[in-house]
Amino acid sequence: MANNNKAAMEEMHFFADVCKNFDHAAKFTQHDAGLLDQIRSCNSVFRFRFPIRRGNGFEVIDAWRIEHSHHQSPTKGGIRYSEMVNEDEVMALAALMTYKCAIVNVPFGGAKGGIKINPKEYTVQELENITRRYTVELTKKNFIGPSIDVPAPDYGSGEREMSWIADTYATMNPGQLDAMGVVTGKPIALHGIAGRREATGRGVAIAARECVSFAEDMEKLGLTAGLEGKKVIVQGLGNVGYYSAKYLAEFGATIVGICEFEGAIYNADGLDYDAVFQHRKATGSLLNFPGATSFENSGEGLEQPCDILVPAALENQITIDNIRRIKAKIIVEGANGPTTPEAEAIFYEEMGGFIVPDMYANAGGVTVSYFEWLKNLSHVAFGRMNRRFEENSNKNIVNMVESITGVNLSDSQRATIVKGASELELVNSGLEDTMIRSYHEIRETFVSTEGIDTLRTAAFVGAINKIAVSYQNLGIWP
Ligand code: NAD
Repeated sequence: MANNNKAAMEEMHFFADVCKNFDHAAKFTQHDAGLLDQIRSCNSVFRFRFPIRRGNGFEVIDAWRIEHSHHQSPTKGGIRYSEMVNEDEVMALAALMTYKCAIVNVPFGGAKGGIKINPKEYTVQELENITRRYTVELTKKNFIGPSIDVPAPDYGSGEREMSWIADTYATMNPGQLDAMGVVTGKPIALHGIAGRREATGRGVAIAARECVSFAEDMEKLGLTAGLEGKKVIVQGLGNVGYYSAKYLAEFGATIVGICEFEGAIYNADGLDYDAVFQHRKATGSLLNFPGATSFENSGEGLEQPCDILVPAALENQITIDNIRRIKAKIIVEGANGPTTPEAEAIFYEEMGGFIVPDMYANAGGVTVSYFEWLKNLSHVAFGRMNRRFEENSNKNIVNMVESITGVNLSDSQRATIVKGASELELVNSGLEDTMIRSYHEIRETFVSTEGIDTLRTAAFVGAINKIAVSYQNLGIWP
């Protein structure tokens, strides 16, 4: 019994950690205590259980959907499929969604869902039954809808689960024109959007690139500006980790370490992340990747020499137990809540490190989810109306310039200039613009506000101020 209580106590601190960060940042704002309390609290918690048929019997599944803040509608946030999921975790993740959306100016409130299963232990048919029943339960209680609450993928879920949700919701709401806007992260063939799958990782890489672009900040860390040649360790080779590694490598960084739950690998000269991915697919493990050192204890992988560490698996990975052994100077949080507040304080104060916080760093996913939702509501793909028009206008300009100057462009030069933007190019442009602008906004608060100690606090201050304005605009607070 005592042990159970201890385990429960240890489990129930993620939301408290988020609130701790919030309260610390709130000291740098001027808002009424009641308003701060309203912003901090979870508005609606829906906990439910439902049975599914399994083998010769039944199993009862625990599930949640939590809407943290209704200052904007709809609310938005992924659904986590994990045997470790619990109410505290879903509350924390829902709260982070609220602040994340505010930081990147996406007009949604925050929400999150959880289904307490290990998806690897269920057949596809069982997963479909669970996902469809989960959607039915949310629909019955008005906890889902294109203008109410819009889920997305998270740890353990992906495009396939999002299709089941969209189909179940559409079936239960016949004739609803905007039904496909009920969920984002759908496959492109089912009203998804180009670039959503890779958006979170791409955003993480842009966040890292922006962070290291400030020479004066890098100087304080003993680093040079720019990603070129920076050594990176990534934890988690799922959606966020894989695409973070891919785009960081494309932007010039060297991936030297990769950690998964079965262990870690390291090679100071660099790892081909794609070859590692294929090796893991073929052998079922990262370990024994040719040319790399293997660590059976995955945690050791985080502690190898590098400049940037990207935790992209789960929360509470960097704690007071291992922070002092971390060699990276910069942590870019791909996962939600990977660093505890205590570890963060040590990293900044004792180790002279710098953290690009989750609520900004992994906001690329919700940014592109917003674009997908807009596409679903407008019922037209981005670029469809103007691509050909742009190309024809560009052709006319090129023809005119050629005839005035007498200089003829090569076919490839002409093709580059004339080309109209595709949906993917527009999505990536919107994502990049959002990530860059938001970083500059947060950094500006960080360097210009006396006493602000971390980039996370600066991000919270910006988010709190924006949410406060929303409440004031709603006429709820003066
Ligand atoms: P995912 O399920 O695709 O991948 C997670 C990976 O982490 C898996 O490969 C898993 O094996 C690995 N992992 C689990 N425990 C580990 C451990 N202890 N050490 C090393 N690796 C471990 O999930 P995801 O969608 O990539 O989400 C990862 C994190 O990013 C979560 O915190 C999630 O909330 C956050 N996030 C995801 C998105 C998104 O768009 N998917 C958006 C924002 C934030």
